Amino acid sequence: MSTFQDLGLNDDLLQAITDLGFIKPSEVQEKAIPILLGSEGDLVALAQTGTGKTAAFGFPMLEKIDANSRTTQGLILSPTRELCLQIANEMKQYGKYCKGLNVVAIYGGSSITDQAREVKRGAQIIVATPGRMKDMISRRLVDISKIQYSVLDEADEMLNMGFKEDITDILSHTPEDKSTWLFSATMPREVAAIAKNFMSNPQEITVGNKNESTSNVSHEYYLVNARDRYQALKRLSDANPDIFSVVFCRTKRDTQKVAEQLIEDGYSAGALHGDLSQNQRDLVMKSFRNKQIQTLVATDVAARGIDVDNITHVINYQLPDEIETYTHRSGRTGRAGKTGVSMVIVSKSEVRKIKSIERIIKRQFEKKDIPDGAEICEVQLMSLANKIHNTEVNHEIDKHLSNINTLFEDTDKDELIKKFFSVEFTRFYNYYEKAKNLNVSYDGSRDSGGDSGGRSDSTRYFINVGGKDGFDWMKLKDFLKEQLQLGRDDVFKVEVKDSFSFFNTENELKEKVLAFFTDFKHEGRFVNVEVSENRGGGRRNDRKRGRRRDDRKGGGRRDDRRSGSGNRSERRRSEGTSKPRHSDSGNSNAFKPRRSRR
Ligand code: ADP
Ligand code: MG
Repeated sequence: MSTFQDLGLNDDLLQAITDLGFIKPSEVQEKAIPILLGSEGDLVALAQTGTGKTAAFGFPMLEKIDANSRTTQGLILSPTRELCLQIANEMKQYGKYCKGLNVVAIYGGSSITDQAREVKRGAQIIVATPGRMKDMISRRLVDISKIQYSVLDEADEMLNMGFKEDITDILSHTPEDKSTWLFSATMPREVAAIAKNFMSNPQEITVGNKNESTSNVSHEYYLVNARDRYQALKRLSDANPDIFSVVFCRTKRDTQKVAEQLIEDGYSAGALHGDLSQNQRDLVMKSFRNKQIQTLVATDVAARGIDVDNITHVINYQLPDEIETYTHRSGRTGRAGKTGVSMVIVSKSEVRKIKSIERIIKRQFEKKDIPDGAEICEVQLMSLANKIHNTEVNHEIDKHLSNINTLFEDTDKDELIKKFFSVEFTRFYNYYEKAKNLNVSYDGSRDSGGDSGGRSDSTRYFINVGGKDGFDWMKLKDFLKEQLQLGRDDVFKVEVKDSFSFFNTENELKEKVLAFFTDFKHEGRFVNVEVSENRGGGRRNDRKRGRRRDDRKGGGRRDDRRSGSGNRSERRRSEGTSKPRHSDSGNSNAFKPRRSRR
């Protein structure tokens, strides 16, 4: 095992490294630094998040640039503002003894003139997001025509976020003979293509297996009906009282809704997505870092900058479109030597994706059951007991003790404990007393005595758009939800054929759906929706099975009836069917189990 001295770094850097408390180089640093110091060639480095990639390119870049010159010599491109700032800060710390060094961060959502002024003072190193960088180049506010080193950090994410053209454009303003260092956690085809097109004979280093997930993280999945996703999320949270989690959704809209609903239901949650202002995002992140927010609901893009170390759980509320993204999500936990759990809530139609993810991360998922009400109550009760046991006594109470003692004169210890605990516990108990089993087996039925995926209170539609029009089932579902302003699970059983598709909604939405599509054009052509007469082929069986097993009619009590979040059909009736529902909640009589902390 080598030291930083062995790697050949200069004294200024070694001093900074000592100040930072880095004792030995991480694997990616050990592999990359000697290559980058020893040659002027290109490099592709694959390593998961949290492995110290910033220093792996940062130290060599600082070593190589001339801090006495005011020319911009190094350019680091990174996908988000947060990462950009993080990298710039790290670089400043690493280079704090390099006299004359000026590292400038360039990113959107902040004054371009201020950034231009900083660059003008002479920035040897610029750390930038592609969008703002391109903007500044076109306004001639930066000059990168003399750079010698360019870094594409988190290359996979930049491509995922659609920055390919911007990157191409930016690099076209740089010299041919510069060195390019590409760092990425995963190696999808697009990244390989970038390496091929923009780099010459790059050396390649890999830390761990490509795309592999860290061994500190265990992976679990939970199979439920799509419409029970939210209930499943709540149970997973309730079954882990000290959870500190990031919940990933696929769209900004779902992210916002899930967060709002959690807050409504008494959880300390917050949303992080691109529709929030920078200021709002900063506030949310601040609360999350301070643990004022226990559950951060985020989109993949917005979560890229999260560098919070103690996240206990990552919950995939929905799986990402690109399965490679899963590695990034699960990498949010299990950092800094801690262990973490990455949970996936899947519906039957997505369960095959679990196998594909296993192949990518080279790790096995464990199929687990959503805990039932009794389990959750027990966990909550014992967590409360532990909390009380560990609570420091507040002696302000002493002076009231005799009054309290008088009140409980005739209550023995067991009775007192029971009463005391009931204050908190009864809320959970009432909520979960009649909780149904949310787990489904692979054939789509409830594991025991519940209802199935099919519902006789749902309507199946035919729609004349399909794969040809660029839809897959997820895109079509998002499209319908967006157009009709529907909630997360209001559109289900989406099945996309080549030139047409099918989908379901609850019967209550039928009028609204049909009315909406009477005169609707998408990309210049009329979109036609009709009620399907079981034209969905293989779906016929589903429907029959659904009808037989359906036990929801007749008002059997379900746990979510009381939560103010579940009782969909009743609430919708009272609201009328045409009004878009922005939140499922709002039933003031609804009982909500509030978290005992905060
Ligand atoms: P990555 O870019 O691979 O996700 P970072 O470069 O952001 O990882 O590093 C993750 C964390 O580890 C940072 O807080 C960084 O300061 C710290 N770190 C980096 N290298 C070392 C090291 N050799 N020893 C200790 N901590 C390190
Ligand atoms: Mg990084």
